[in-house]
Amino acid sequence: MGGLTNKQHVFFDLDDTLWDFEKNSERVLRQLFDEFLLAQKLNCDFEVFHQRYKIENKNLWSQYYQKKIDKHFLRNHRFNTVFKLFGHDDYEENLLITEQYLKRSPNGTVLKDNCVVILDYLKQHYHLHIITNGFKEVQDIKLKASGIQSYFNQVIISEEHNLTKPDERIFRLAENLASTSKQHCVMIGDNLESDIAGALNAGWDAIHYSEQRDPNYSGLHVSNLLELKSLL
Ligand SMILES: [Mg+2]
Repeated sequence: MGGLTNKQHVFFDLDDTLWDFEKNSERVLRQLFDEFLLAQKLNCDFEVFHQRYKIENKNLWSQYYQKKIDKHFLRNHRFNTVFKLFGHDDYEENLLITEQYLKRSPNGTVLKDNCVVILDYLKQHYHLHIITNGFKEVQDIKLKASGIQSYFNQVIISEEHNLTKPDERIFRLAENLASTSKQHCVMIGDNLESDIAGALNAGWDAIHYSEQRDPNYSGLHVSNLLELKSLL
């Protein structure tokens, strides 16, 4: 152990920190792209569609966090928002694809590199928890399908508490649920705003996990989960 002292509770983000959202999502999108013959309908190949989808999906999530759109809109319009950019507009088909996407993608089992190794290591020294901005029904499935559920004491899902990271109140709630206080907590996540700025603002320590260090961020960073061993 080293780096951070006095820590007892390690809180992880889930998507793209432990569970490989990017890879699990891409697998299902590729299946659906083929099954619904989207190459012909959108007149593009999967890679072009996928790049565009990721941009539009990120925009929609950002609007959701800013409370400009609700969960219903996010779910029911995200595919058609992209399809329209390719001159294809079929709302009913968009709903069918959405339904399949939501049903299949949480069952993905791909975890980030060294996820289980680091959880095994940290579990010996700390209480482990999750704080995730996501929907209850899918986040639970992801944890079970990928086999990591048993590592965590508290799994705090934003939707259940009507609070999303970076709101300071979700970090205070996390302290209460774990029966601890801020100086004993550290947050690990891939998102500089919701995970890192949120935790720091709440008086926690935080470790950013991303393959490349963001030039605008000078705090604690790891590019592989295994590097957490030098900090914790
Ligand atoms: Mg994340």
